[in-house]
Amino acid sequence: MQITENIQRLKKSVPSHVGIIAVSKTIPEDDILEAYHCGHRLFGENRVQELTRKHANLPHDIEWHMIGHLQSNKVKYIAPFIAMIHSVDNLNLLTAINHEALKNNRTIRCLLQIKIAREESKYGLSLEGANKFLSDPEFALLKNIKISGLMGMATFTQDTTLIRSEFRHLASCFRQIKADHFRQDNDFCELSMGMSGDYTIALEEGATLLRIGTLIFGSRT
Ligand SMILES: *Cc1c(COP(=O)(O)O)cnc(C)c1O
Repeated sequence: MQITENIQRLKKSVPSHVGIIAVSKTIPEDDILEAYHCGHRLFGENRVQELTRKHANLPHDIEWHMIGHLQSNKVKYIAPFIAMIHSVDNLNLLTAINHEALKNNRTIRCLLQIKIAREESKYGLSLEGANKFLSDPEFALLKNIKISGLMGMATFTQDTTLIRSEFRHLASCFRQIKADHFRQDNDFCELSMGMSGDYTIALEEGATLLRIGTLIFGSRT
């Protein structure tokens, strides 16, 4: 019952217009079902193989979000069912998503991942890179993807001032990209930022989607 309590507590502290993606990577299906049975429907995974297995084994009204680094040659496994891909950081990948979406007669919502953390290892585009990407004539040809907003991960640190400044930077990228490329497009509306340790800061800086694992399922051992 712990998972149910965790979700209920979290929902009370998050405004209703903000989506909570329960990050279920490495979490067994029984635990995911507990979250499902208390009414939760948004789940996030970061590995294709685990995602396809869980999709096959769990109820089909779950909305699955891909939040991890994705290789173009693996898009075909998730294209039939994925609700949103948060981790698009190159045009090759987006072209592959478009191709597989078309084959499945779907439009797949995608977020551009922006690198906001100081750490070297994090994936993502710069603001300049995102602008270049969106101005590429190849981008305009992709009709089976929908760019729905931006995603970012803050530095893993106790320094809340740094975390806040990174989220604020992402929100500023969002406003600039919206103004320059999606002014008339109401589907460009999502800001995916905030995890278990920093989601309250992310909310204050304008997050519309939170990606929360540990606070719901406990620590991954
Ligand atoms: C694991 C993960 C999360 C959730 O992390 P928690 O600290 O457990 O809430 C969020 N986003 C991404 C991209 C992740 O890989």
